[in-house]
Amino acid sequence: MTQTPLNPGDSPLVREALSSVVSRETSATQAADPAGETSRVVEGGWPRPAKCRVIAVANQKGGVGKTTTSVNIAAALSMNGQRVLVVDLDPQGNASTALATEHRGDVPDVYQVLVDDLPLADIVKQVPDMPGLYCAPATIDLAGAEIELVSLVAREARLRRALTAYSAELDYIIIDCPPSLGLLTVNALVAADEVMIPIQCEYYALEGLGQLLRNVDLIKVHLNPTLRLSTIVLTMYDGRTRLASQVAEEVRAHFGETVLKTVIPRSVRLSEAPSYGQSVMTYDPGSSGAMAYMDAAREIAHRALV
Ligand code: ADP
Ligand code: MG
Repeated sequence: MTQTPLNPGDSPLVREALSSVVSRETSATQAADPAGETSRVVEGGWPRPAKCRVIAVANQKGGVGKTTTSVNIAAALSMNGQRVLVVDLDPQGNASTALATEHRGDVPDVYQVLVDDLPLADIVKQVPDMPGLYCAPATIDLAGAEIELVSLVAREARLRRALTAYSAELDYIIIDCPPSLGLLTVNALVAADEVMIPIQCEYYALEGLGQLLRNVDLIKVHLNPTLRLSTIVLTMYDGRTRLASQVAEEVRAHFGETVLKTVIPRSVRLSEAPSYGQSVMTYDPGSSGAMAYMDAAREIAHRALV
């Protein structure tokens, strides 16, 4: 009999991807601390962080659920009393679309903030019908930023500078990164306190993870000492396949508490919602995808920063 070919634990690729991070298992755990000193509880809502949590949602692979996760976690948080800004850092502008925020033509966008020093306040829009939820849109112009940033002063810290200068009172800033490890993602990681990595429950999903984690470490050492991998969220989980549960098990074995207990299932409603300019939280709140993202957001809100 031949060996099971798809056990991720047996794969040199996965071992390679994960070897650099095994030591995180113990260090990266964070206790849930809803009533602790680091958070304030609002009546009828979820605990508010003592200071704004800036979370970069990153993974250089495309199609793993970065945008879906950014938009729906942000919506769920805002529906529970949090003030949330989504920064769309992908020239595709998918997060802007899902949040019904104009990002075509010459609307001022993140590009102008990063390259032309436009204040963030000049581009942020309130998301229609979603009190407490805001979006900083990306237009296709942002595609040029990757190159134009190279010659600018403090090119890695442009977003951090813009966020620091932005005075609006916020509980969360969620940065939806593009599918690359270029200067846009570097800007997100320099601006953030936390990295959230969506991992699709499929075999190749772990490919490149080692590289992403090494980049996070490099940025931590050289540019942003407070950065940490706070959250891994398993996405597009198909409970009917053995592979999905194997990938989930493997990721949990290596990353421990960093992985949210909530797993995001495959759900058609999640992929339909953006074409209506909505998060799934309003498009179909009773769907499995909406309920999962609500649970995931609750977990995130109850995890205090150490
Ligand atoms: P990324 O931002 O990492 O490229 P997206 O969030 O855009 O990934 O997701 C890629 C595609 O998969 C999109 O069409 C999205 O609607 C769809 N999708 C994301 N998560 C799910 C899910 N849990 N179930 C079904 N489709 C999903
Ligand atoms: Mg995306």
